[in-house]
Order: sequence, then structure tokens, then C-alpha cells
Amino acid sequence: MLVLVINSGSSSLKYQLRDVAAGEVLAEGMVDRIGFPEEGGELEVPDHEAALDLVDAALHEALAGRRIDAVGHRVVHGGERFGDPVLIDNEITRSIERLNPLAPLHNPANVLGIRAIADKWPDVPQVAVFDTAYHRTIPERAWRYAVPDWLYTRHGIRRYGFHGTSHQYVAGRAAALLGIDPAAFDGVVLHLGNGASATAVQGGRSIDTSMGFTPLEGLVMGTRSGDVDPSILVFLGRLGMTPDEIDDLLNRESGLKALGGSNDMRTLVESAERGDAKARRALDVASYRLAKYVGAYHVAVGGARAIVFTAGIGENSSVFRGLVAERLGALGVVLDAAANAARSSEPRAVSAAESAIPVLVVPTDEERAIAEATAAVVTAAVGGQMPR
Ligand code: AMP
Repeated sequence: MLVLVINSGSSSLKYQLRDVAAGEVLAEGMVDRIGFPEEGGELEVPDHEAALDLVDAALHEALAGRRIDAVGHRVVHGGERFGDPVLIDNEITRSIERLNPLAPLHNPANVLGIRAIADKWPDVPQVAVFDTAYHRTIPERAWRYAVPDWLYTRHGIRRYGFHGTSHQYVAGRAAALLGIDPAAFDGVVLHLGNGASATAVQGGRSIDTSMGFTPLEGLVMGTRSGDVDPSILVFLGRLGMTPDEIDDLLNRESGLKALGGSNDMRTLVESAERGDAKARRALDVASYRLAKYVGAYHVAVGGARAIVFTAGIGENSSVFRGLVAERLGALGVVLDAAANAARSSEPRAVSAAESAIPVLVVPTDEERAIAEATAAVVTAAVGGQMPR
């Protein structure tokens, strides 16, 4: 089955064409600057329909006369309604749209992508895979904020969690690497990219995660602050900053960028190795915050059987993994220096044999997870038959 995976943003459209049975990527790319005027005021890519025409043209060669069997969308917010991936129809699209207030930057863009495809290829089934879905198993003690009930009942203010597709995929791969049933996996998964989150996994399910109502809560990220005292926002408001200015400050001007002068882990590690005090401080704050979360989630899952690193930083930065692992010595964690330093794109253990908890590096592949989920939903919907 050929599945086109779409990650539709407000001004960009990322795509990957996959042959699910063969596990192959046939084509991938991104159309960006959608709706941005070029010099002279012309819109090169005026809207998502135009972006899709460009994708269609780019796929021509890879398709070699075959047709796309299904489209799988990464949808950021599924609210409390959506857990499993769903076949999209008009009612589902409207439900995703109703969640716009919870993810004002992301869900409207996801809906634009869904509608553009429905217009262009009305016969191709579409599936939504939600970034929040894996975290629907989080118990109330972990998702409730200690605030008056009307914030939840009227505005849906609770913790939702994000990066779910990645956490679920990586937890499954980690269990396979350890030779245990995914439904028996207890561990802590660390998705460390530009955005970063930690998830406590018990019995293969998410029982807690560091991102909350929005992807701002939790760890120190590339440009996001993660946890701060909420009174800081009130204080800044009283200074006269607007909500948009505070939003920008915490989402785009904070995190590693604010602490160390760069949101790129490679730059920070190089600067720190040259003795740059700001870069060292950034690594120190970020690794300390992360280690605290691992300690907390070790308790939450009743004893982690593995600590798993993934995404850009987690997969590639042996230095950052080393800094975190050093702080986890109290849990009996010991890295194997050579295994940690070795570069590989395969799932692997980087801890020493005597480590009380194995430390794994498992590359994430959200597109693969979305493509497989899409194929499964479409196959089930047509009674086990391929759609054509
Ligand atoms: P992601 O959001 O998963 O694509 O991760 C992006 C981040 O991963 C970048 O901002 C870098 O900080 C980090 N990263 C990517 N490659 C490397 C590398 N080779 N070494 C250290 N960090 C890396």
C-alpha cells in the first residue's frame, strides 16, 4: 500500500511517500513559505492547494504510474475525543476544527491540509493520527492541574501531552530490543529534539508526560522555557507585556537559545568544549532538568526497566546523553563510554553491563508510524481488502 504522510503546518507542508509493506520511503520533501509574498509582492505558493499541486508534481516520478492508496495526517491535537487513528470524513474534520482553540497554531493548518487533499483527490481515504493520542491513558492524578474545576470544564485546561506518536513507536522498539512484550514495558522515553518531552511508560502505556496543556511545559527545549513559576507570567503582564509578547518570549526566545546563545546542541557542545561559560550553563540547566524528570518518572512507573533516548539530540548527542547519565548515577545508571560515543542509526544499548537500568538509543520515525497506522485503519475499513 502506498501511503502519503502529510505534516501540514500554517506555512509549510512536509510530505513522505511510503510503500508500507516494503517499509520503504519512495519520496519526501517540504513545500514552505506558503502564503508568503516573494520580492515584488507575488505569492509563489498562495495556499495549501497550490502546495499540494507542487507535491503532486514532485511525486510523479516516484509513483511511476501507481496511485496513492491513502493519506495519513499528523494532527497535533486530538483533545479528549481522539485516541486511535481515525478514517477522516466531514464530521471528523469538523471535530478536529473544533479543537482549534487548544492548538491555535497547528490544528487549523492540519485541517487546511485535509481539505486540500479531499478537494484534489476525493477518492483517496485519509486518516488522522493524533500527537496527543498515546497520552490518553494518563490517569487523572497526572493530567489534572490543581486549579478550580471550571478551567477544565469550560476551557478544557488539563495536561494533554504531545510527541505521542514518537513516544509510542520508540517504546515499542525499545521493548523489542530488550526482548520483552511491548505490553510489559516499563520505562522512561526521552524525545529530545527542538521540542523535547519525557514520557513515563508503564505496561506499554503512557502514564505521565512532561508536556501539558501545550507543548511549552516540562523540559528545557531549543527555544522553549519548559517549566517556570506561573507567577512570572503574571509579573510580566503587570510590567505591561501583552499575551502575545509573553507567548513569544517563552516559546521562541527561551530555552537553550536564551541560556547558551544557540538552540542547536552541536553548537552548544562545541562552544562548551572551547570553554564558553554560557554554553556550559545551558547544558548544565538542561541536563539537570531532564535528570530530575527521569528520577520522577522512575518512581511513577514503579521502577524503569529502561531509559530510552530519541530524536535529534537524543539520537546524536553522546555528550548530552553523558551529562544526563552522570546525574543518574544515584539510580545505578552507568554508560559504556565506547558504545555511547559510537555513531549508528540502529536501535542500541549505550549502557554498561553493570548498569542497574539499561540506557538505549532508539531512532524515532514518526512518518513510518503514521504510515503503518494509516494502512491499518484503511485496511480495516474496507474489510481487510486493499482499497484498490
Ligand atoms: P529534531 O527536532 O528531532 O529534528 O532535532 C533537532 C535538534 O537535534 C537540533 O536542533 C540539534 O540541536 C540536534 N542535533 C541534530 N543532529 C545532531 C548531532 N549530530 N549532534 C548533536 N545534536 C544534534
